Amino acid sequence: MLRILITNDDGVRSDGIHALAGALGALGDVVIVAPHVEASAIGHALTLRRPLRMEQVGERVFEVDGTPTDCVNIAVAKIFDRMPDLVVSGINKGFNLGDDTTYSGTVAGAMEGALLGIPSLAISLERTSGDYDFGPSARAASTLAKLVLERGLPARTFLNVNVPPGRPKGFRVTVQAKRNHVTVVDERCDPRGKAYYWIEEGQNDWEPHDRSDYQAVRDGYVSVTPLRPDLTDYDALAVLEQFNFNSFTRR
Ligand code: MN
Repeated sequence: MLRILITNDDGVRSDGIHALAGALGALGDVVIVAPHVEASAIGHALTLRRPLRMEQVGERVFEVDGTPTDCVNIAVAKIFDRMPDLVVSGINKGFNLGDDTTYSGTVAGAMEGALLGIPSLAISLERTSGDYDFGPSARAASTLAKLVLERGLPARTFLNVNVPPGRPKGFRVTVQAKRNHVTVVDERCDPRGKAYYWIEEGQNDWEPHDRSDYQAVRDGYVSVTPLRPDLTDYDALAVLEQFNFNSFTRR
């Protein structure tokens, strides 16, 4: 029987993670290990300066008072007696598109799986103030999980999947979009007269790109972006070599 680890950053009580577990249950033994409280935008943080606790909160459902990355590590080391066959993170309430991916705890959960050598994917849908329909995302996750289990992924590659609202027209393999960042920091005053700050969600000012994840979900397609933890800018290697550091230090 295949073993599937499911995590998220919205927390163990999020209905998105249970919809995902329901959809993947047909493919193998599913275990949920997820943060006790929401850890959205926690990125790839690993908790090293305080102890972590794990509680079993249901049949094959565990919570950890930490980050998605903590959850994957504790699950692999303490719950599974051999590596899981697949890690799936989500279903996140809110897209993880383009540059926003770097802040995402959801995506980091899948990245941690990839770093541990496990085929992994993250799945997200558009944030809404109304009721969430996890059906299309759950079906997309199931389709992709089946394919990944069957065909594998290149070493250290993991998938960032975003599902458009409504009924998707199909899947599109995409690249990460770029956003023209606008920082909005709201300043307020606390009851003692001291300023405090809220970092606002950025404006959706995306650089146009036919192949981007952002464009795919805008066009009604499930976006599938292959990512890797290696952040090296390979195109910049030659540029940096031209800096000629060594002749500079000898001067
Ligand atoms: Mn989240």
